[in-house]
Amino acid sequence: MNKGKVFLVGAGPGDPKLLTVYGMECLQQSDVIAYDRLVNPKLLEFAKSGAELIFCGKLPGKHALIQEQINQLLVDKASEGKIVTRLKGGDPCVFGRAGEEAQVLSEHGIEFEIVPGVTAGIAAPAYAGIPVTHRDHASSFAIVTGHGRAEKQQDHINWKALAQGIDTIAFYMSVGNLKYICNQLIENGKNPDTPAAIIEWGTLEKQRTVTGYLRNIDMLSEQENIQHPAIFLVSETVQLREKIKWFEEKIQQETVKQPN
Ligand code: SAH
Repeated sequence: MNKGKVFLVGAGPGDPKLLTVYGMECLQQSDVIAYDRLVNPKLLEFAKSGAELIFCGKLPGKHALIQEQINQLLVDKASEGKIVTRLKGGDPCVFGRAGEEAQVLSEHGIEFEIVPGVTAGIAAPAYAGIPVTHRDHASSFAIVTGHGRAEKQQDHINWKALAQGIDTIAFYMSVGNLKYICNQLIENGKNPDTPAAIIEWGTLEKQRTVTGYLRNIDMLSEQENIQHPAIFLVSETVQLREKIKWFEEKIQQETVKQPN
């Protein structure tokens, strides 16, 4: 029997229009769509009729247990000759385990493609009016996991290099760990007055943004009860938001125009 094929597809950060054209084509032709929790369910409307939709919900902190099962699922379905889309939030290669899944598929001799997506660490700031680079303010940008802590031996980050060498830093998976992150950056030489922002549910209508400085953003975020998913951005470019926060203003205008 012909082996199937797996597309590891980035769904984009939330706004369904931020799916790529190629991503949409993968959804349209797939027999099986295995999707993650952060994927906008609207995208499943692209599925052909009769496609099998499988929820692979990953709750924060509960990845490890089911990743093996997901790998097995992809192998099994493709081995049955099916076209499979593995749909992941944002970009599949940015904290999305596409690398691990691709390794498994490769070991089983299953054909696959990786279809990039718009990642939250760039898109959520853009919708909040914060460009990650800017000629006058930021010429380097890093994407960093924010969930590690030294006391749990999970922190593999070179804080000194980050604090001293990178202009814009986007921390993923960082809600609940902001105080630790800010302390590490400040202790390693970053100015406590560096602007910072946290953006919850970026690119969706319910997007919320809180801005402050490295020295107080954890407190401000807590006051506003910011929850997962959120991007924590540290950058001089956060100050540009006041002038260019286009999305939240657009949503506000639309709400005024169409009162329910
Ligand atoms: N592959 C994804 C990241 C997965 S890790 C990507 O490229 O975007 C999960 C983390 O992504 C969350 O903890 C949060 O930090 C971030 N994230 C995903 N969607 C988001 C959104 N709509 N708004 C803000 N942060 C988001």
